[in-house]
Amino acid sequence: MSTPDPIDRSGLRPRFWETVPLKKMTQAEWEALCDGCGKCCLNKLEDEETGEVALTRVACRLLDGHSCRCAQYPIRHQFVPECISLRMQNLDQHMYWMPQTCAYRLLWEGKPLFHWHPLISGDAQSVHDAGVSVQDITVPEFEIPEEDWEDYIIEEPT
Ligand code: SF4
Ligand code: SF4
Repeated sequence: MSTPDPIDRSGLRPRFWETVPLKKMTQAEWEALCDGCGKCCLNKLEDEETGEVALTRVACRLLDGHSCRCAQYPIRHQFVPECISLRMQNLDQHMYWMPQTCAYRLLWEGKPLFHWHPLISGDAQSVHDAGVSVQDITVPEFEIPEEDWEDYIIEEPT
């Protein structure tokens, strides 16, 4: 079933992601880069010694496991104060754990967006059809004690 796109991708400069550097994008363009995969809303396990990051399918309590969207995005910090607002100024410090297919990471690394990105396909559903989102694979964090998260480690869907 098709999922509606909560991001307004209208009125943006044509193919801006190919010509406008990240730091010169408007707020609307910046927001439109998110493909809605939901992967950054999964809990990660970080090895303190090696710095290695493992992805789990245990999702933030606010993630809708089907639409892959935050259920309370505008007011999410009231419930999840640690949720990161990705900005040009903090991209550097977060890139090590960002999903490989995340548009912010791709552009930061000088790579093109994938054909299934809603900005290219024109359809928010294409990220799910391509099998790169977390649609219907997550479990809510309030159901799984933190000491068991290790049992829920997954490879990033790419
Ligand atoms: S990983 Fe990137 S593209 Fe996917 S939901 Fe998070 S910010 Fe958006
Ligand atoms: S608060 Fe919302 S945007 Fe932040 S991690 Fe949780 S589901 Fe994702």
